[in-house]
Amino acid sequence: MFKSILYLIGKTEKNNLNFLGKHKFEVNFSNNNLQITFDSPKVLIGCDKIPSKIARDPAPSFYKYRIEKIDKINHDCFLYRLVSPDGIYCPIPLGHHVIARLTKKGNVLTRPYTPISAKCLANIGKSRLEFLIKIYQDGIFTPELVKLQEGDVLELSEPNNRVNIEKLSDESNVVMLAAGSGITPMVRILQHRHAQKRQSTLFFFNRKRIDLIGEALFNLSFDDTLLVVKNVFSDEQDVSGDELRGRVRKELLEENLSTFKDTQFFVCGPEGFNIAAVKSLEECGVDRKHIHIFC
Ligand SMILES: Cc1cc2nc3c(=O)[nH]c(=O)nc-3n(C[C@H](O)[C@H](O)[C@H](O)COP(=O)(O)OP(=O)(O)OC[C@H]3O[C@@H](n4cnc5c(N)ncnc54)[C@H](O)[C@@H]3O)c2cc1C
Repeated sequence: MFKSILYLIGKTEKNNLNFLGKHKFEVNFSNNNLQITFDSPKVLIGCDKIPSKIARDPAPSFYKYRIEKIDKINHDCFLYRLVSPDGIYCPIPLGHHVIARLTKKGNVLTRPYTPISAKCLANIGKSRLEFLIKIYQDGIFTPELVKLQEGDVLELSEPNNRVNIEKLSDESNVVMLAAGSGITPMVRILQHRHAQKRQSTLFFFNRKRIDLIGEALFNLSFDDTLLVVKNVFSDEQDVSGDELRGRVRKELLEENLSTFKDTQFFVCGPEGFNIAAVKSLEECGVDRKHIHIFC
């Protein structure tokens, strides 16, 4: 079966909604042509100003996962364990994320999340996914998510990503720069590399020690020789031992990495962090093609 979606790309979602309004439209395919007929000519006013394109079957399918368990990890992070519906056995490749979807007062809200654990329970034909999710009191999606309880349902899409992280993460030298919940895509990559006896370096940026996420959650020991972890705090006055202070910057990377050559750099955090991380790495002489951002 052929499924198409017409993307209407306006400056804002509101533009697109205004364009469609509450009008009815009919879609016909014939002789390789797509024809959309609206119930009012007014709908088409301004249509030529809205760029649009057609993509073949781009929309992921969503499945209703059941929330099996919720654990509080620190002051604003929760671990959600979800189980797929019967017969949905959906492997999540390394570095891929899914889209979580819920509805608030008739509005559909979506956000991407990366499982820190993805197990296919072949014996019962289901998948079990674990997500570490930071709740933003002033956010849009997470204040709704946090209202859900064990036993409730959360819709998740099929996995999504453009880059073959599995291949990249097999490279001999990998350095990760993660800020806050940006640690999530790194967790399974760290486990994967550890299983292959490959060393990884992780710079884990947080505001304060209370924001840290315990290593036990990752099924890895941060003392392991295969895993070098540098905790960097932006809002702690005193740091001790291996801890570092400040924000991502060229000097911090230069002082703590012996080489930038033949290394793949993985970056994940809020947009401002990602921009600063890429800039700092480039100032250290890293070629942009060796820097991979999860976004
Ligand atoms: C590929 C990918 C994977 C991800 N995986 C995870 C994961 O596993 N776990 C996880 O916790 N998160 C993950 N995220 C982040 C997640 O998708 C959401 O962005 C996050 O949960 C916040 O959503 P929210 O709607 O609650 O907050 P938002 O409404 O997005 O707001 C978040 C914060 O940003 C501030 N903010 C919003 N807009 C602006 C603005 N214009 N200027 C300045 N500040 C602003 C808000 O005030 C708030 O403090 C991932 C993101 C991506 C892209």
